[in-house]
Amino acid sequence: MTCIFCQIVSHQLPADIIYEDDDLAVFKDINPSAPIHLLIVPKKHLDSLNIIDEKNAGIVTKMVMTAKRIAEEQKTRNGYRLLINTGREAGQVVFHLHMHLMGGWGGRKR
Ligand code: AMP
Ligand code: ZN
Repeated sequence: MTCIFCQIVSHQLPADIIYEDDDLAVFKDINPSAPIHLLIVPKKHLDSLNIIDEKNAGIVTKMVMTAKRIAEEQKTRNGYRLLINTGREAGQVVFHLHMHLMGGWGGRKR
């Protein structure tokens, strides 16, 4: 298995996983570009948003709803950004579908 995110979600490679369930895992981005920078990653390997269609779009809905809940838990609900880089030209580097959740600019409450 060569996909780095497949290895992380199956616990073969360490990562700072803050949430997981049967369908997805959420872990800290190793090179954060915001005070809070998390990646929401389906456990099933899907190369990118380009292979999502009506039949499997449920996972994208679940990714968005999980991001929203975690943003609330992380006290960053006043401002956060969700980003799915799709394709090399857009800066996608890891070809395993993932959503960036970035926030926390207003100071992190604990
Ligand atoms: P993208 O450019 O959308 O493909 O984003 C890939 C993201 O994965 C980047 O923000 C990287 O910093 C992050 N990343 C790469 N390897 C790891 C890793 N082992 N653990 C956590 N985040 C990673
Ligand atoms: Zn993968």
